[in-house]
Amino acid sequence: MDCGIHAREWITPAFCQYFVREILQAYKTDPKMQAMMTNMDFYVTPVLNIDGYIHSWKDNTTRLWRKNRSPGPLNCTCYGTDLNRNFNANWGTLGVSFDCCDPTFCGTKPVSEPEAQAVTYFRRKPERRLPVFPHHPLLQQDAPGSIWKPQLHRQQQR
Ligand SMILES: [Zn+2]
Repeated sequence: MDCGIHAREWITPAFCQYFVREILQAYKTDPKMQAMMTNMDFYVTPVLNIDGYIHSWKDNTTRLWRKNRSPGPLNCTCYGTDLNRNFNANWGTLGVSFDCCDPTFCGTKPVSEPEAQAVTYFRRKPERRLPVFPHHPLLQQDAPGSIWKPQLHRQQQR
């Protein structure tokens, strides 16, 4: 479960913490949760976009910051890439901007950002190709390791 991809969406890190608390509480008394936690690994990233998240807390002018804080490409004075638009899943096609100053700037290429690389490479391991709770289900349905990927592969094999 990846939370805190978009810096300004403060509810998502709070939700990840809530989720962890709830499953740990349920584990004590719920046999189903005990079985799940015995047989499955849970990976929770409370804040994926750490520098963007910190920036969004700086002051009122940064409260609505969305992207990470990586320097823009050459000849661009703006900062940041929209991490949710940087994954290698229909990259650059839907709801993105190639203007590095735009809040939905998708980066110079798929998975150009260290945060997207970390998630992508972490989920490449077969044992980690597990159901996930994607940040934006419609946009990330083909994200590495998502619950949708195996279905797409089966369809492609027909
Ligand atoms: Zn978002």
